[in-house]
Amino acid sequence: MLTQALLAAKCEKDVATWQAHSHYDSQRKNLCPQTDRKPIVRLLVIEDNTELAQLLANGLNAAGFEVDSAATAEDARSALMTTRYSSIVLDLGLPDADGLSILQEIRGKKDPVPVLILTARSAASDRIKGLRSGADDYLVKPFAFEELVARLEAILRRPSQLVGSSMKLGNLVFDTASRQAFINEEPQYLSSREAAVLELLIRRKGHVVSKRLIEDELFGLFNEIASNAIEVYIHRLRKQLLEHGATVKIHTVRGVGYLLAEV
Ligand code: CA
Repeated sequence: MLTQALLAAKCEKDVATWQAHSHYDSQRKNLCPQTDRKPIVRLLVIEDNTELAQLLANGLNAAGFEVDSAATAEDARSALMTTRYSSIVLDLGLPDADGLSILQEIRGKKDPVPVLILTARSAASDRIKGLRSGADDYLVKPFAFEELVARLEAILRRPSQLVGSSMKLGNLVFDTASRQAFINEEPQYLSSREAAVLELLIRRKGHVVSKRLIEDELFGLFNEIASNAIEVYIHRLRKQLLEHGATVKIHTVRGVGYLLAEV
């Protein structure tokens, strides 16, 4: 009898094979039903008005999005540091910073995540400034909720989000758009979950990433993970890095988490 962890590991490893051979569909359904779920589109809503933030979270949830909320620029920065979002809804008037500065930071890092500005600032000059700072869309409050959803759907359809940025450490490169890792420019086969773990580690390179944070990230992306799944993914990633001559290594910081650093 397969334990839950083994089951998760098996699902994970074989998803690509299953996807390539549709006659495995029935097996896949039996073994790991979660892979049949719709991919999760995760949004970050940066809005300091509690009532509006709640309204946005509820409405966007109902429209099928997963929503994280940040009420300050500081909260937004820490969310962005650890989580990859499909899109960001950005208020400009925040208590601790102008929303535009967050947008500029995102674009400064060459992060292509689509950003929709949602603000009361309605002057043409404000819109121009927002769009020129790298926003993909601009919606003025008050707004019709359906229009917000339609605009988000539209920016998520645009191929521009595929223009990715690369993160590099030693001879390891991670492309955030394709979620493809390269060691010495050689593309690596990674399952989607292994790629998610590696992305989190390389985003926070040189810093310890707690196991809890990795679990939260994977749970956000995949809805279901087994209890010791993280150890399994870390083990596989280490093996892959070693076998392909990576000049980086995943260190275990006992009782805290994991750290990706150059050897
Ligand atoms: Ca505000």
